[in-house]
Amino acid sequence: MHPNPAILEMLSLVYEDLDIDTIEQRFVTMVAELFPFTRVGLFFVKHKKGLLQGKLCKGFNEGSISTIEVPIDGQYLLTRPLITGFPLWNEPSCDDPFLGGLGLNHFALIPVVNKKRIPCWQITNCQAVDCPAYGHQWLRCWLVPGTKCKDQTQPSLEGKSALCAECPVFTGQDSRAVEGIMLVDGPAPISDETVTMLSIIAHGVGAAINNSKKYTQVLRESIRDDLTGLHNRRYFNERLLDEIERARRYGGNISLLIGDIDHFKLVNDCYGHPAGDMVLREVSAIFIRELRRSDLVARYGGEEFAVVLFDCTPERAKTIAEGLRLAVAKANWPGLAETRVTISFGVASLTKDASTLEGLIGKADKALYSAKAQGRNRVWIAPQAMDDD
Ligand code: GH3
Ligand code: MG
Ligand code: MG
Repeated sequence: MHPNPAILEMLSLVYEDLDIDTIEQRFVTMVAELFPFTRVGLFFVKHKKGLLQGKLCKGFNEGSISTIEVPIDGQYLLTRPLITGFPLWNEPSCDDPFLGGLGLNHFALIPVVNKKRIPCWQITNCQAVDCPAYGHQWLRCWLVPGTKCKDQTQPSLEGKSALCAECPVFTGQDSRAVEGIMLVDGPAPISDETVTMLSIIAHGVGAAINNSKKYTQVLRESIRDDLTGLHNRRYFNERLLDEIERARRYGGNISLLIGDIDHFKLVNDCYGHPAGDMVLREVSAIFIRELRRSDLVARYGGEEFAVVLFDCTPERAKTIAEGLRLAVAKANWPGLAETRVTISFGVASLTKDASTLEGLIGKADKALYSAKAQGRNRVWIAPQAMDDD
Protein backbone atom coordinates (compact mmCIF):
# COMPACT_ATOMS: atom_id res chain seq x y z
CA MET A 1 0.00 0.00 0.00
CA HIS A 2 1.51 3.31 -1.08
CA PRO A 3 0.67 6.51 0.73
CA ASN A 4 -1.68 8.62 -1.35
CA PRO A 5 -0.47 12.26 -1.41
CA ALA A 6 -4.03 13.63 -1.54
CA ILE A 7 -4.94 11.65 1.58
CA LEU A 8 -1.80 12.74 3.39
CA GLU A 9 -2.51 16.38 2.50
CA MET A 10 -6.10 16.12 3.71
CA LEU A 11 -5.01 14.35 6.89
CA SER A 12 -2.67 17.15 7.80
CA LEU A 13 -5.69 19.46 7.58
CA VAL A 14 -7.75 17.13 9.78
CA TYR A 15 -5.05 16.98 12.46
CA GLU A 16 -4.15 20.65 12.40
CA ASP A 17 -7.28 21.75 14.24
CA LEU A 18 -8.03 21.39 17.92
CA ASP A 19 -11.76 21.85 17.63
CA ILE A 20 -13.60 18.50 17.60
CA ASP A 21 -16.39 19.67 15.28
CA THR A 22 -13.86 20.91 12.71
CA ILE A 23 -11.81 17.70 12.91
CA GLU A 24 -14.91 15.58 12.36
CA GLN A 25 -16.25 17.76 9.56
CA ARG A 26 -12.94 17.56 7.70
CA PHE A 27 -12.71 13.82 8.27
CA VAL A 28 -16.13 13.19 6.70
CA THR A 29 -15.40 15.54 3.79
CA MET A 30 -12.04 13.89 3.17
CA VAL A 31 -13.44 10.36 3.09
CA ALA A 32 -16.34 11.42 0.86
CA GLU A 33 -14.00 13.16 -1.60
CA LEU A 34 -11.11 10.72 -1.74
CA PHE A 35 -12.80 7.33 -1.60
CA PRO A 36 -15.37 5.83 -3.99
CA PHE A 37 -18.29 6.07 -1.58
CA THR A 38 -21.60 7.74 -2.24
CA ARG A 39 -22.47 8.19 1.43
CA VAL A 40 -20.52 8.75 4.61
CA GLY A 41 -21.86 9.04 8.17
CA LEU A 42 -20.11 9.69 11.46
CA PHE A 43 -21.31 8.59 14.90
CA PHE A 44 -19.73 9.48 18.22
CA VAL A 45 -19.62 7.57 21.49
CA LYS A 46 -21.30 8.98 24.59
CA HIS A 47 -19.12 7.05 26.99
CA LYS A 48 -21.01 7.90 30.18
CA LYS A 49 -24.40 6.96 28.75
CA GLY A 50 -23.13 3.91 26.85
CA LEU A 51 -24.66 5.19 23.61
CA LEU A 52 -23.58 5.80 20.05
CA GLN A 53 -25.06 8.99 18.57
CA GLY A 54 -25.22 10.00 14.90
CA LYS A 55 -23.60 13.34 14.19
CA LEU A 56 -22.51 14.17 10.67
CA CYS A 57 -23.11 12.85 7.19
CA LYS A 58 -22.54 13.40 3.50
CA GLY A 59 -24.88 11.88 0.90
CA PHE A 60 -27.46 10.63 3.41
CA ASN A 61 -30.79 12.42 3.79
CA GLU A 62 -30.74 15.33 6.18
CA GLY A 63 -31.37 14.03 9.70
CA SER A 64 -31.22 10.34 8.82
CA ILE A 65 -27.92 9.93 10.67
CA SER A 66 -28.16 12.59 13.40
CA THR A 67 -31.41 11.09 14.74
CA ILE A 68 -29.85 7.65 15.29
CA GLU A 69 -29.01 6.80 18.90
CA VAL A 70 -27.98 3.23 19.69
CA PRO A 71 -27.08 1.48 22.96
CA ILE A 72 -23.57 0.03 22.80
CA ASP A 73 -24.44 -3.63 22.49
CA GLY A 74 -22.93 -6.47 20.45
CA GLN A 75 -26.37 -7.43 19.10
CA TYR A 76 -26.49 -4.29 16.96
CA LEU A 77 -24.31 -4.26 13.87
CA LEU A 78 -23.78 -0.52 14.20
CA THR A 79 -22.17 -0.73 17.65
CA ARG A 80 -20.41 -4.07 17.29
CA PRO A 81 -17.11 -2.51 16.14
CA LEU A 82 -17.08 -0.53 19.40
CA ILE A 83 -16.96 -3.78 21.32
CA THR A 84 -14.64 -5.73 19.05
CA GLY A 85 -12.51 -2.75 17.98
CA PHE A 86 -12.48 -4.43 14.57
CA PRO A 87 -14.04 -2.98 11.42
CA LEU A 88 -17.04 -4.60 9.80
CA TRP A 89 -17.48 -4.63 6.02
CA ASN A 90 -19.24 -6.35 3.12
CA GLU A 91 -21.89 -7.83 5.39
CA PRO A 92 -24.16 -10.02 3.26
CA SER A 93 -27.33 -8.38 4.60
CA CYS A 94 -28.27 -5.55 6.84
CA ASP A 95 -31.27 -6.26 9.05
CA ASP A 96 -29.92 -4.13 11.88
CA PRO A 97 -32.82 -2.04 13.32
CA PHE A 98 -30.73 1.14 13.09
CA LEU A 99 -29.08 0.62 9.72
CA GLY A 100 -31.91 -1.25 7.99
CA GLY A 101 -33.81 1.88 7.00
CA LEU A 102 -30.84 3.53 5.31
CA GLY A 103 -30.97 1.33 2.18
CA LEU A 104 -27.27 0.52 2.32
CA ASN A 105 -25.51 -1.18 -0.58
CA HIS A 106 -21.89 -2.11 0.12
CA PHE A 107 -21.01 -0.62 3.45
CA ALA A 108 -18.31 -0.69 6.08
CA LEU A 109 -18.29 0.34 9.74
CA ILE A 110 -14.90 1.61 10.82
CA PRO A 111 -14.13 2.22 14.51
CA VAL A 112 -12.57 5.62 15.18
CA VAL A 113 -9.96 4.37 17.65
CA ASN A 114 -7.94 6.71 19.86
CA LYS A 115 -5.55 4.32 21.54
CA LYS A 116 -1.87 4.13 20.79
CA ARG A 117 -0.83 0.56 20.06
CA ILE A 118 2.57 -1.05 20.42
CA PRO A 119 3.83 -3.02 17.41
CA CYS A 120 3.04 -6.73 17.89
CA TRP A 121 6.49 -8.01 16.92
CA GLN A 122 8.02 -5.78 19.56
CA ILE A 123 6.07 -6.94 22.58
CA THR A 124 5.79 -10.61 21.59
CA ASN A 125 9.46 -10.84 20.64
CA CYS A 126 8.31 -12.25 17.33
CA GLN A 127 10.87 -13.75 14.93
CA ALA A 128 8.55 -14.07 11.93
CA VAL A 129 10.61 -11.89 9.60
CA ASP A 130 8.44 -12.90 6.63
CA CYS A 131 5.28 -11.48 8.26
CA PRO A 132 4.08 -8.27 6.55
CA ALA A 133 3.76 -6.56 9.95
CA TYR A 134 7.28 -7.49 11.09
CA GLY A 135 9.53 -4.51 11.71
CA HIS A 136 6.83 -1.94 10.94
CA GLN A 137 6.32 0.69 13.58
CA TRP A 138 3.02 2.01 12.34
CA LEU A 139 1.17 -0.92 10.80
CA ARG A 140 -1.66 -2.27 12.89
CA CYS A 141 -1.13 -5.99 12.44
CA TRP A 142 -4.83 -6.87 12.76
CA LEU A 143 -5.62 -4.67 9.80
CA VAL A 144 -3.05 -6.23 7.48
CA PRO A 145 -4.02 -9.36 5.56
CA GLY A 146 -1.41 -12.11 5.45
CA THR A 147 0.12 -11.48 8.90
CA LYS A 148 1.51 -14.42 10.82
CA CYS A 149 0.13 -15.04 14.28
CA LYS A 150 1.15 -18.07 16.32
CA ASP A 151 2.81 -19.49 13.19
CA GLN A 152 -0.52 -19.28 11.41
CA THR A 153 -0.84 -17.10 8.35
CA GLN A 154 -4.07 -15.15 8.14
CA PRO A 155 -4.85 -14.85 4.44
CA SER A 156 -7.56 -12.18 4.74
CA LEU A 157 -8.84 -9.75 7.29
CA GLU A 158 -12.02 -11.73 7.70
CA GLY A 159 -11.60 -14.23 10.50
CA LYS A 160 -8.75 -12.27 11.99
CA SER A 161 -10.95 -10.59 14.53
CA ALA A 162 -11.48 -13.83 16.51
CA LEU A 163 -7.75 -14.42 16.65
CA CYS A 164 -6.96 -10.82 17.47
CA ALA A 165 -9.49 -10.71 20.30
CA GLU A 166 -7.19 -12.93 22.36
CA CYS A 167 -4.05 -11.02 21.49
CA PRO A 168 -2.44 -8.67 24.07
CA VAL A 169 -1.51 -6.22 21.31
CA PHE A 170 -5.10 -5.79 20.23
CA THR A 171 -7.00 -3.91 22.91
CA GLY A 172 -10.18 -3.15 21.07
CA GLN A 173 -12.29 -4.58 23.90
CA ASP A 174 -12.39 -1.28 25.72
CA SER A 175 -15.08 0.95 24.20
CA ARG A 176 -13.35 3.98 25.78
CA ALA A 177 -10.57 3.35 23.28
CA VAL A 178 -13.05 4.20 20.52
CA GLU A 179 -14.36 7.71 19.86
CA GLY A 180 -16.94 6.77 17.27
CA ILE A 181 -17.90 4.83 14.17
CA MET A 182 -17.58 5.86 10.55
CA LEU A 183 -20.17 4.41 8.18
CA VAL A 184 -19.29 4.38 4.49
CA ASP A 185 -21.53 3.12 1.73
CA GLY A 186 -20.96 2.73 -2.00
CA PRO A 187 -21.99 0.86 -5.15
CA ALA A 188 -19.14 -1.69 -5.16
CA PRO A 189 -17.77 -4.23 -2.69
CA ILE A 190 -15.17 -2.70 -0.39
CA SER A 191 -11.66 -4.13 -0.56
CA ASP A 192 -9.57 -5.19 2.43
CA GLU A 193 -7.03 -2.58 1.43
CA THR A 194 -9.62 0.20 1.57
CA VAL A 195 -10.77 -0.98 5.00
CA THR A 196 -7.16 -1.01 6.19
CA MET A 197 -6.57 2.50 4.83
CA LEU A 198 -9.79 3.85 6.36
CA SER A 199 -8.97 2.22 9.70
CA ILE A 200 -5.53 3.79 9.83
CA ILE A 201 -6.95 7.21 8.97
CA ALA A 202 -9.74 6.73 11.53
CA HIS A 203 -7.16 5.85 14.17
CA GLY A 204 -5.34 9.14 13.52
CA VAL A 205 -8.62 11.04 13.67
CA GLY A 206 -9.55 9.22 16.90
CA ALA A 207 -6.24 10.30 18.44
CA ALA A 208 -6.83 13.89 17.26
CA ILE A 209 -10.33 13.88 18.81
CA ASN A 210 -8.92 12.50 22.06
CA ASN A 211 -6.20 15.17 22.13
CA SER A 212 -8.81 17.81 21.51
CA LYS A 213 -10.89 16.54 24.44
CA LYS A 214 -7.85 16.60 26.72
CA TYR A 215 -6.97 20.10 25.57
CA THR A 216 -10.52 21.30 26.24
CA GLN A 217 -10.39 19.68 29.68
CA VAL A 218 -7.07 21.35 30.55
CA LEU A 219 -8.43 24.66 29.28
CA ARG A 220 -11.57 24.26 31.40
CA GLU A 221 -9.58 23.33 34.48
CA SER A 222 -7.16 26.23 34.03
CA ILE A 223 -9.95 28.75 34.54
CA ARG A 224 -11.69 26.99 37.43
CA ASP A 225 -11.05 26.65 41.13
CA ASP A 226 -10.56 22.98 42.10
CA LEU A 227 -12.50 23.05 45.35
CA THR A 228 -15.66 24.90 44.32
CA GLY A 229 -15.72 24.65 40.52
CA LEU A 230 -16.23 28.43 40.33
CA HIS A 231 -14.01 30.52 38.06
CA ASN A 232 -10.63 31.32 39.53
CA ARG A 233 -9.20 34.76 40.23
CA ARG A 234 -6.99 34.85 37.13
CA TYR A 235 -9.89 34.19 34.78
CA PHE A 236 -12.14 36.58 36.71
CA ASN A 237 -9.65 39.44 36.44
CA GLU A 238 -9.11 38.84 32.72
CA ARG A 239 -12.85 38.81 32.01
CA LEU A 240 -13.49 41.84 34.20
CA LEU A 241 -10.75 43.76 32.43
CA ASP A 242 -12.36 42.95 29.05
CA GLU A 243 -15.80 43.90 30.32
CA ILE A 244 -14.56 47.22 31.72
CA GLU A 245 -12.99 47.98 28.34
CA ARG A 246 -16.25 47.11 26.58
CA ALA A 247 -18.29 49.25 28.98
CA ARG A 248 -15.88 52.15 28.43
CA ARG A 249 -16.37 51.92 24.65
CA TYR A 250 -20.02 51.08 24.35
CA GLY A 251 -21.42 52.06 27.73
CA GLY A 252 -23.26 49.83 30.19
CA ASN A 253 -23.41 49.37 33.93
CA ILE A 254 -21.09 46.98 35.69
CA SER A 255 -21.37 46.22 39.39
CA LEU A 256 -18.92 44.23 41.47
CA LEU A 257 -19.72 42.37 44.67
CA ILE A 258 -16.98 41.03 46.90
CA GLY A 259 -18.22 38.66 49.58
CA ASP A 260 -16.16 37.33 52.48
CA ILE A 261 -17.36 34.66 54.91
CA ASP A 262 -17.48 35.97 58.45
CA HIS A 263 -15.19 34.44 61.09
CA PHE A 264 -14.44 31.58 58.75
CA LYS A 265 -11.30 30.76 60.66
CA LEU A 266 -13.52 29.64 63.55
CA VAL A 267 -15.22 27.05 61.34
CA ASN A 268 -11.84 25.54 60.54
CA ASP A 269 -10.68 25.78 64.14
CA CYS A 270 -13.81 24.24 65.63
CA TYR A 271 -14.83 21.65 63.03
CA GLY A 272 -11.69 21.02 61.01
CA HIS A 273 -10.49 21.93 57.54
CA PRO A 274 -12.74 19.43 55.67
CA ALA A 275 -15.80 21.07 57.30
CA GLY A 276 -14.44 24.45 56.15
CA ASP A 277 -14.11 23.08 52.63
CA MET A 278 -17.70 21.84 52.76
CA VAL A 279 -18.86 25.36 53.71
CA LEU A 280 -16.91 26.87 50.82
CA ARG A 281 -18.49 24.41 48.38
CA GLU A 282 -21.98 25.01 49.74
CA VAL A 283 -21.63 28.80 49.68
CA SER A 284 -20.49 28.46 46.03
CA ALA A 285 -23.54 26.34 45.28
CA ILE A 286 -25.77 29.02 46.82
CA PHE A 287 -24.15 31.66 44.59
CA ILE A 288 -24.71 29.53 41.50
CA ARG A 289 -28.32 28.90 42.49
CA GLU A 290 -29.13 32.52 43.23
CA LEU A 291 -27.35 34.19 40.30
CA ARG A 292 -28.00 34.19 36.57
CA ARG A 293 -25.87 32.16 34.17
CA SER A 294 -24.69 35.38 32.58
CA ASP A 295 -23.26 36.72 35.86
CA LEU A 296 -19.56 36.19 36.38
CA VAL A 297 -18.79 34.40 39.67
CA ALA A 298 -15.38 33.49 41.06
CA ARG A 299 -13.67 32.25 44.15
CA TYR A 300 -11.48 35.27 44.57
CA GLY A 301 -9.35 34.01 47.43
CA GLY A 302 -9.56 31.60 50.39
CA GLU A 303 -13.08 32.45 51.65
CA GLU A 304 -13.68 35.38 49.35
CA PHE A 305 -16.04 35.41 46.40
CA ALA A 306 -16.42 37.96 43.64
CA VAL A 307 -19.40 38.52 41.38
CA VAL A 308 -19.73 40.82 38.37
CA LEU A 309 -23.26 41.81 37.43
CA PHE A 310 -23.71 43.17 33.93
CA ASP A 311 -26.20 45.84 32.95
CA CYS A 312 -26.97 46.23 36.60
CA THR A 313 -27.54 49.48 38.48
CA PRO A 314 -25.95 49.95 41.94
CA GLU A 315 -29.44 49.67 43.50
CA ARG A 316 -30.13 46.35 41.84
CA ALA A 317 -26.61 45.12 42.76
CA LYS A 318 -27.43 45.90 46.37
CA THR A 319 -30.65 43.85 46.18
CA ILE A 320 -28.79 40.90 44.65
CA ALA A 321 -26.04 41.04 47.27
CA GLU A 322 -28.71 41.20 49.98
CA GLY A 323 -30.36 38.08 48.46
CA LEU A 324 -27.05 36.21 48.53
CA ARG A 325 -26.35 37.29 52.10
CA LEU A 326 -29.78 36.08 53.26
CA ALA A 327 -29.52 32.77 51.39
CA VAL A 328 -26.21 32.02 53.17
CA ALA A 329 -27.56 33.14 56.55
CA LYS A 330 -30.64 30.92 56.20
CA ALA A 331 -28.77 27.81 55.03
CA ASN A 332 -28.49 24.74 57.24
CA TRP A 333 -25.07 23.34 58.02
CA PRO A 334 -25.21 19.69 58.97
CA GLY A 335 -22.07 18.88 60.94
CA LEU A 336 -21.58 22.40 62.28
CA ALA A 337 -23.87 21.96 65.32
CA GLU A 338 -25.57 25.30 66.10
CA THR A 339 -23.05 27.41 64.21
CA ARG A 340 -24.49 29.83 61.66
CA VAL A 341 -22.47 30.85 58.65
CA THR A 342 -22.76 34.44 57.51
CA ILE A 343 -21.15 36.51 54.81
CA SER A 344 -20.43 40.22 54.34
CA PHE A 345 -20.45 42.08 51.04
CA GLY A 346 -18.83 45.15 49.60
CA VAL A 347 -20.56 46.50 46.49
CA ALA A 348 -19.11 48.95 43.98
CA SER A 349 -20.11 50.05 40.49
CA LEU A 350 -18.06 51.23 37.57
CA THR A 351 -17.97 55.02 37.85
CA LYS A 352 -15.68 57.87 36.90
CA ASP A 353 -13.78 57.53 40.16
CA ALA A 354 -13.52 53.74 39.76
CA SER A 355 -13.06 53.20 36.05
CA THR A 356 -10.23 50.68 36.11
CA LEU A 357 -9.95 47.11 37.33
CA GLU A 358 -7.82 48.13 40.28
CA GLY A 359 -10.07 51.10 41.04
CA LEU A 360 -13.25 49.03 41.00
CA ILE A 361 -11.82 46.19 43.09
CA GLY A 362 -10.26 48.64 45.54
CA LYS A 363 -13.60 50.36 45.99
CA ALA A 364 -15.52 47.11 46.57
CA ASP A 365 -12.79 45.95 48.99
CA LYS A 366 -13.09 49.14 50.97
CA ALA A 367 -16.86 48.72 51.17
CA LEU A 368 -16.34 45.14 52.37
CA TYR A 369 -14.02 46.40 55.06
CA SER A 370 -16.78 48.78 56.20
CA ALA A 371 -19.32 45.91 56.23
CA LYS A 372 -16.97 43.96 58.51
CA ALA A 373 -16.32 46.98 60.71
CA GLN A 374 -20.07 47.62 61.06
CA GLY A 375 -20.60 44.19 62.58
CA ARG A 376 -20.50 41.69 59.64
CA ASN A 377 -23.41 39.78 58.03
CA ARG A 378 -24.29 42.86 56.01
CA VAL A 379 -24.00 44.52 52.59
CA TRP A 380 -22.12 47.79 52.30
CA ILE A 381 -22.38 49.98 49.22
CA ALA A 382 -19.40 52.07 48.18
CA PRO A 383 -20.40 55.72 47.96
CA GLN A 384 -20.96 57.12 44.45
CA ALA A 385 -18.63 59.95 43.41
CA MET A 386 -20.29 63.38 43.44
CA ASP A 387 -19.75 64.04 39.72
CA ASP A 388 -21.24 60.71 38.63
CA ASP A 389 -24.60 60.85 37.02
P1 GH3 B 1 -13.42 37.80 58.94
O1 GH3 B 1 -14.82 37.78 59.42
O2 GH3 B 1 -12.71 39.02 59.43
O3 GH3 B 1 -13.33 37.62 57.48
O4 GH3 B 1 -12.69 36.58 59.67
P2 GH3 B 1 -12.17 35.25 59.00
O5 GH3 B 1 -11.88 34.28 60.10
O6 GH3 B 1 -13.13 34.79 57.98
O7 GH3 B 1 -10.88 35.73 58.26
P3 GH3 B 1 -9.39 35.28 58.31
O8 GH3 B 1 -8.71 35.97 57.18
O9 GH3 B 1 -8.81 35.48 59.67
O10 GH3 B 1 -9.41 33.74 58.04
C1 GH3 B 1 -9.70 33.17 56.81
C2 GH3 B 1 -9.52 31.67 56.95
O11 GH3 B 1 -9.87 31.00 55.75
C3 GH3 B 1 -8.08 31.30 57.24
C4 GH3 B 1 -7.79 30.18 56.26
O12 GH3 B 1 -7.18 29.09 56.89
C5 GH3 B 1 -9.14 29.81 55.73
N1 GH3 B 1 -9.07 29.25 54.40
C6 GH3 B 1 -8.56 29.80 53.28
N2 GH3 B 1 -8.68 28.96 52.24
C7 GH3 B 1 -9.28 27.83 52.68
C8 GH3 B 1 -9.67 26.59 52.10
O13 GH3 B 1 -9.50 26.35 50.90
N3 GH3 B 1 -10.28 25.68 52.87
C9 GH3 B 1 -10.49 25.90 54.21
N4 GH3 B 1 -11.09 24.97 54.91
N5 GH3 B 1 -10.13 27.05 54.80
C10 GH3 B 1 -9.53 28.02 54.06
MG1 MG C 1 -10.87 36.95 53.92
MG1 MG D 1 -13.56 36.01 56.31
